[in-house]
Amino acid sequence: MKDPFGRDINYLRISVTDLCNLRCRYCMPEEGVPKLSHEDILSVEEIEKITKAFVNLGINKIRLTGGEPLLRSGILDIVERIDKLEGLKDFAMTTNGVLLGRYAQELKNRGLKRVNISLDTLKDDKYRYITRKGNIKYVMEGIEAAKKVGLTPIKINTVLVGGFNDDEIEDLARLTLEEEIHVRFIELMPVGEAIKHRSNKYISNEIVLEKLPELIEVKRKDLSSPAVYYKLPNAKGRIGLINPISCKFCSHCNRVRLTAQGMMKLCLHSNDEIDLREALRKGQDLENIILAAVEKKPESHHLEDGQYVWKKMYQIGG
Ligand code: SAM
Ligand code: SF4
Repeated sequence: MKDPFGRDINYLRISVTDLCNLRCRYCMPEEGVPKLSHEDILSVEEIEKITKAFVNLGINKIRLTGGEPLLRSGILDIVERIDKLEGLKDFAMTTNGVLLGRYAQELKNRGLKRVNISLDTLKDDKYRYITRKGNIKYVMEGIEAAKKVGLTPIKINTVLVGGFNDDEIEDLARLTLEEEIHVRFIELMPVGEAIKHRSNKYISNEIVLEKLPELIEVKRKDLSSPAVYYKLPNAKGRIGLINPISCKFCSHCNRVRLTAQGMMKLCLHSNDEIDLREALRKGQDLENIILAAVEKKPESHHLEDGQYVWKKMYQIGG
């Protein structure tokens, strides 16, 4: 499926829940978020039907996210049903990794190919601070379990938070030395909770290049990836820099998003949404609705200065 700017839209990110077992300070309020009623979120069958419509139209890359996707009841069933759709080339999940030790083997068995794991620090006290309640031990066990069962290559996503983890950039980067683990440093986006903190917590990705002058740029293969990749000399894994706001990848953007409530989003930085849940429940032709929506995918981010995305990251899924 092509949009009006000739971009091939082949990547769908599905948020399966707004709920989370952590409370990362830049993402969720301390008290958590209200649990949506059963009726309001897509059922497993509805996720399958909507995803099928996307796959019929040429989506061949799918990522499950959240909230924390491993908290969603029926997550294994969702994975299995999506894996059975014909034509998928890539099927991944973004998770905080806390429950991965428990689920990795079964996720692999049901067809998931790989995981991205969010980890902003390697120190247990700092992990507990930034997540407000997490125990890094479980994430480390999750990473080991993912390696063991082959949910690989693993990507670690680290949000750079000024005064918090800028002193750990070298340590995190060293994770790429011995194994094919890729570490991606993401700049803090002014979304949700982060709007309050961004003015004093934002740091540019440039800091990674300053701290690691030995990095070697890797030639880009996948132009639709928001990351620019580098390598430490002789490292097995890569280091990615993601700058979601001033990124230059809009002209190669291949993605659309689906929220747990069934809203299709055409751009992370736009407030426009299309209600696929309602369309499905009314028996309307999903494929036509998706095609018409893709016709309206914006050419690039178009939020003016001072404007923000209304939805929160735990609703959109990153
Ligand atoms: N709970 C899962 C996790 O943390 O991996 C999946 C959902 S989470 C919203 C997806 C990604 O968004 C995480 O890597 C998280 O660090 C990132 N994220 C959340 N808020 C962000 C913000 N304001 N700026 C940049 N990244 C953010
Ligand atoms: Fe939960 Fe992920 Fe948000 Fe952290 S970033 S609070 S793990 S949804």
